[in-house]
Amino acid sequence: MTATSTPLYVVMLGAPGAGKGTQARMLSETLGLPQVSSGDIFRENLKNQTPLGLLAKQYMDNGALVPDDVTINMVMERLSRSDCAAGVILDGFPRTLAQADALDKALKAANLAISRVPLLEVSDDALINRLAGRRVCRDCQAMYHLEFNPPAVEGKCDKCGGELYLRADDNPDTVRNRLFVYYKQTAPLIGYYYAHGVLFSLNGDQPMEQVQAELLAAIQA
Ligand code: ADP
Ligand code: ADP
Ligand code: ZN
Repeated sequence: MTATSTPLYVVMLGAPGAGKGTQARMLSETLGLPQVSSGDIFRENLKNQTPLGLLAKQYMDNGALVPDDVTINMVMERLSRSDCAAGVILDGFPRTLAQADALDKALKAANLAISRVPLLEVSDDALINRLAGRRVCRDCQAMYHLEFNPPAVEGKCDKCGGELYLRADDNPDTVRNRLFVYYKQTAPLIGYYYAHGVLFSLNGDQPMEQVQAELLAAIQA
């Protein structure tokens, strides 16, 4: 690592199930930077039955994106908090060109910029398998997989003992729509960040520890 104190802004890019949340969490723990996951913030709001959560639910249930204005305001508010001053690992945001533009403008106004954008590349077959077997902790949002990363005790979180559940939008029909939405609305960000000179690709079809090692090496290079 360099000795400069330039804040590190990392945007995890990849299809649903590519491993963004898994990698973002490991990176956040290793680098001591907060993980900001738009999906987690929406689910937290839904759990608390806030107006934002109830609005988001209408879109999440179909695998559609929550409207840009709502999403941008929510994430910008989160990024303005003091714990983000040294940098942040963004997971699930931005997901549209309008969101990417809004983020760039806000960073630019603060004399900042996106540092690196890892793209996790995973085949569609593997994505569908991963989402079908994904289980999430109700209390701490830790991610498990029935086959690839099972908890020590069935149905219980290793970290906090919380109950593991299958997300409502991880059913095969909604997953198909989420993949469609990804290719149509989010994949254009690959070109956007490539043009900004910050994109790099990782083979996300490898075991998660291997992906993490390559990700860390690239970010610390
Ligand atoms: P995954 O990690 O499987 O890709 P997320 O947890 O990131 O899923 O997102 C779940 C859902 O939350 C999305 O399908 C969408 O409805 C909503 N969502 C999350 N992030 C955004 C965003 N940046 N813009 C719009 N909708 C979002
Ligand atoms: P995303 O946030 O991109 O939707 P997740 O990090 O939630 O993806 O991962 C989706 C599922 O795949 C989870 O059940 C997770 O445990 C599992 N998973 C993540 N990375 C890998 C990997 N490299 N190999 C196998 N399974 C993985
Ligand atoms: Zn937990």
